[in-house]
Amino acid sequence: MRIRHKKHECIGCALCEQEAPSYFVMDEEGMATLLDFQQVGVFQTGEGLEIDRAALKRAADGCPVNIIHID
Ligand code: SF4
Repeated sequence: MRIRHKKHECIGCALCEQEAPSYFVMDEEGMATLLDFQQVGVFQTGEGLEIDRAALKRAADGCPVNIIHID
């Protein structure tokens, strides 16, 4: 599945890192970044494994500013 993350709107709550640490880490500025991504416009985009769908969905659903999307 495809992950899209609009990093510049992150408020640094760290929920995504807690829910899906194989995909998200907090950077030195306290914002979440995808570990492996390509920048496409405003989005960081990456590939998620099907086995991780539930964790990625928790991150997407829990993000308080709704900037994580999985397709
Ligand atoms: S859950 Fe959303 S606001 Fe919180 S750190 Fe992750 S991307 Fe940023």
